[in-house]
Amino acid sequence: MLKSMKRKVISGELALIEEIRRRAAGPSRLVRLGIGDDCAILNAPKGSDLLITTDFSLEGRHFRRDWHSARSIGHRTLARGLSDLAAMGGRPIAAFLSVALPVSAVRNHGWMDGFLGGLTDLANAYGAVLAGGDTSESPSEHVLADIILLGRTPTGTALRRSGAKPGDDLYCTGSLGGAAAELAELGRSPRRFRGATPEEDHPHLFPIPRLKAGEALRKRGLATACLDISDGLSSDLAHLCENSGVRAEVDAARLPLHPLAQELGEDAGLAAALHGGEDYELLFTARAEVKMPRMLGGVAITRIGRIVAKRKNAPLMTLIAANGTRTALAARGWEHLR
Ligand code: ADP
Ligand code: MG
Repeated sequence: MLKSMKRKVISGELALIEEIRRRAAGPSRLVRLGIGDDCAILNAPKGSDLLITTDFSLEGRHFRRDWHSARSIGHRTLARGLSDLAAMGGRPIAAFLSVALPVSAVRNHGWMDGFLGGLTDLANAYGAVLAGGDTSESPSEHVLADIILLGRTPTGTALRRSGAKPGDDLYCTGSLGGAAAELAELGRSPRRFRGATPEEDHPHLFPIPRLKAGEALRKRGLATACLDISDGLSSDLAHLCENSGVRAEVDAARLPLHPLAQELGEDAGLAAALHGGEDYELLFTARAEVKMPRMLGGVAITRIGRIVAKRKNAPLMTLIAANGTRTALAARGWEHLR
């Protein structure tokens, strides 16, 4: 059950921080001291590397309060960071949340309850202790949130973008294009998803960070390179290729399209899978002789292509259609400041 806020309106930074503290999980083996002092205190994990990642969630850029429920905004704020940990095979330790909130949002009981509930429910589900942050009044009417995540892997075992070799197979978890398709539908009819919950399949509103799959890949030594699909398959695959110094071929017919992407029709569905961002699935490579399980950490694994050697004048990525036609695949996912 949700720990819900008593029906009271929060007034002031201190009351808000107290409310956040009440919802956060208590100390854990690694988080000795969480919210309340000037710094959190963590036990340095023996035999582990620390992984650290930060992600901005900005109103008007990453979400809209007239489209996204408060619960979805809280969930997505944290899911982005958790997905980065998943991509490296990490296990979450702690999260830190810096928020700038307009007074109108803080005074809106239902909104604050949804935002904090969406964030802390996901944190608690994956063992990330909300251990600190910063709270300030927004200078605009915009909600701004920055999440910092700390995670760990045994020393030297984190998955990276750089290990793919020619001859490796290319895989992804789950399904693709669902987040872009759901976002487009959200823009057309924001009311359709009013009652959406994290328990249902909502790839855009409530993405599931693939922490279990990432950890399984790392533990079983299956992946040669891995990253999460945040900007879109084409853009993230380009990162993998550049970091590994290789090229990739993608088989269009093998791409596991989410049902919402399939509803868009063939061309738009394929475009959503290739270039639509925010699926938060894992994209990884493995040696061809590895026997890849069909499921990892509760999610389906699909082979979608292969890694080939770099060659002069050959495109970094090639898309192979069902009839064998080959075209250069351009990175057309999301990019800020372009
Ligand atoms: P200081 O002014 O010394 O930085 P604050 O008054 O900002 O301390 O914060 C008090 C405590 O509450 C700290 O432990 C801080 O990490 C925590 N905290 C503040 N804002 C948040 C937040 N949005 N989420 C989680 N913890 C928070
Ligand atoms: Mg201080």
